[in-house]
Amino acid sequence: MKEEMVFTKLNGKSNGHGTVNGNGHRLQIVNDHDIIGDNHVATSIETPIRKDAFDKSDKEKIAAIENKFRQIMEIIGLDLTDDSLQGTPHRVAKMFVQEIFYGLNPENKPKISVFENKFKYGEMLVEKNINMNSFCEHHFLPIYGKAHVAYFSSGQVIGLSKINRIVDYFARRPQVQERLTVQIANELRKVLKTDDVAIVIDARHMCVSCRGIQDESSSTITAEYSGKFKDKSVREEFLKYIGL
Ligand SMILES: [Zn+2]
Repeated sequence: MKEEMVFTKLNGKSNGHGTVNGNGHRLQIVNDHDIIGDNHVATSIETPIRKDAFDKSDKEKIAAIENKFRQIMEIIGLDLTDDSLQGTPHRVAKMFVQEIFYGLNPENKPKISVFENKFKYGEMLVEKNINMNSFCEHHFLPIYGKAHVAYFSSGQVIGLSKINRIVDYFARRPQVQERLTVQIANELRKVLKTDDVAIVIDARHMCVSCRGIQDESSSTITAEYSGKFKDKSVREEFLKYIGL
């Protein structure tokens, strides 16, 4: 891997850290991995998971992460005998395994039951403004925003809250927004047994707003359309409903 020293402009702000030269530029070490992360490149549609990912129980994972995270805190110079910091390694480990990354484990995938479309509702069904909390796999910082989903029933329907659960399950793992979008669309096509599915995700990335370029106003929109949504007028109807 090649490493080079570059100056990045701090947008006129100084965060009080790092080596800042006379022009308000900070000296940073940049390597190939930094460049991949800042370009937000995803390498596959499937989340890259190790073969031994689930050999350890959740309890064993929490104990192991707690130990490692304590070391990270000590390396950055924190005194873990302080009352406020003492419990942090355990809290972080529990949060990793049981909350923010629970969606890595296929056992946690929501069980979806489908019902017959008794009302013979044949129009587009839209569920918009679904809350979405994820984490960028390049920086482990939050990606948060809204998902908007639509489908035409193929004779089957699912409970509306199940769509929220599918979005949440795929969001709760280290992610790239493009991959998250495709994974949710694939799952919806599978459970609804139809190709007529659309999804738009509008999200903010904290790795863009609080570090790197430090842009606090931009958001990222990704979309996947299949089946009837390939048709321009159908897609426009959906975009009108979600106000985009
Ligand atoms: Zn990132």
